[in-house]
Amino acid sequence: MGKFLSWVGIAALVWLAFRLFAILGRKRALGERTGNAPRGGSEPMLQCARCGVFVPSSEALVDGKRAWCCAAHRDADRDASRDASRNGTGRG
Ligand SMILES: [Zn+2]
Repeated sequence: MGKFLSWVGIAALVWLAFRLFAILGRKRALGERTGNAPRGGSEPMLQCARCGVFVPSSEALVDGKRAWCCAAHRDADRDASRDASRNGTGRG
């Protein structure tokens, strides 16, 4: 009979844990809904790899991990990196 009572206690603890998770999950869902930032409110800023100016991620030109403020700076940065790689190896 003692064994049966311990099983009942474990079952009650599991049920309590599930109740807690359900309440926490509901609270988190409500927080996410109310904490959702409106469009244009707080946008992540990206730094131009060429001139260093900060631009909103929606206006920045992104290629992989690099970002630029305009197409001219993106092209200039690509030309510079291409020249650097060409001059790097003096084999021939
Ligand atoms: Zn720039």
